[in-house]
Amino acid sequence: MHTLSVEERRILDSIQESEVVGLLQALIQARSDFPPGDCVTAVSVIADKLTKANIPFDILANNPHQPNLVATLPGNAITPTLLYHAHVDTVAPGDPAVWRHPPFSGVVEDGLIYGRGAGDDKSSVAAQVMALVTLARAGVKVNGRFQVVVVSDEESGAKQGTRWLRDNQHLQPDFLVVGEQTQNRVAVAERVACGIDLTIFGKSTHGAMPWAGDNAVLKTARVLVWLEKKLFPQLAAKSHPYLPSATLNIGKITGGLQWNIVPETCKVEMDRRLLPGETREAAMAEIEALLDEYNDTIEPLQYELFSTGKVAPNINTDPNEPFVQCAKSALQVVTGQPQELTGYVQTSDGRWFAGDGFPIIIVGPSDPAVGHATNEHVSVEQLVEATKFLTLLALRWLNQTK
Ligand SMILES: [Zn+2]
Repeated sequence: MHTLSVEERRILDSIQESEVVGLLQALIQARSDFPPGDCVTAVSVIADKLTKANIPFDILANNPHQPNLVATLPGNAITPTLLYHAHVDTVAPGDPAVWRHPPFSGVVEDGLIYGRGAGDDKSSVAAQVMALVTLARAGVKVNGRFQVVVVSDEESGAKQGTRWLRDNQHLQPDFLVVGEQTQNRVAVAERVACGIDLTIFGKSTHGAMPWAGDNAVLKTARVLVWLEKKLFPQLAAKSHPYLPSATLNIGKITGGLQWNIVPETCKVEMDRRLLPGETREAAMAEIEALLDEYNDTIEPLQYELFSTGKVAPNINTDPNEPFVQCAKSALQVVTGQPQELTGYVQTSDGRWFAGDGFPIIIVGPSDPAVGHATNEHVSVEQLVEATKFLTLLALRWLNQTK
């Protein structure tokens, strides 16, 4: 349906800009920046809102300072479950003195709401919660369960947040919307981060006689130039219709003990972003092959490659999924603009749900470029647009499915 029904229009028209903005301002004022990432106050802002709207919710916490809240709109059936997900913790504000407005004020100026978390990710929290409140107030009985989860600990590893909730079977959706900054475009895929460490070995000796050693720092510099020349074009050739190519970032180098010793080892910490279909093993084998080629053709090279930690599966939802098409159409109706699907450039908490076979989309207000930055903000227009879109999507999807 490419227009609103009378009933849909009535429900969307009940959304008050001042109320949505007020909720986001209250969330910005409830500091939840990491470290320490204490989300108790921010979650209580949501709990108050839900209590006033008579919406049942549970607070689930492994760590009492990093609670998670799951709210449910009771429906006519217990399946399917449509879950909206957003995180209420933020990164640190940096130096408040360089902000245009204090980072925990939520000041509105020229149609923009400023503050840490204004984009990432409290605008998504506000829009998702207001979608739930709007449907509850309208007395809508959906065919299934409409849930909103507000999580802690997204910016610092998800061990108290989404990962814990998933490991303990607290969240079992059939359809998932992850709220992150896509400027309200529907994203269907994301890359995942894979940390890889490379250690290069040399031979130490006195700094006065470098010819007697093998400088691991210098050798690393040569190897990295080689990798940039050989590996980066290979990665750039790996493509996906909605995502940037595969990439490798050289994030940190540590080598040597002090100025008058020829360094024996040098460690390079790298961030390899994997496209759907790529694996950690294949990514490491690709680097190994080039390092072995370096050893065979340039100079002897002793090295170790190491990767640890969980690499989650990619989100890679079929763009033809009816749920994706429903989202695209609802967005088109709300914005009045034709919609194209996109990808999410960063990595979201959606990865803890990926691989289970149900459709996942990532969509939310604000520009990813302003998240984590000084003067983070979101436009009032996008915030309200997101609220209307999320309301309409839940209404339409849970009235179509059985
Ligand atoms: Zn985020």
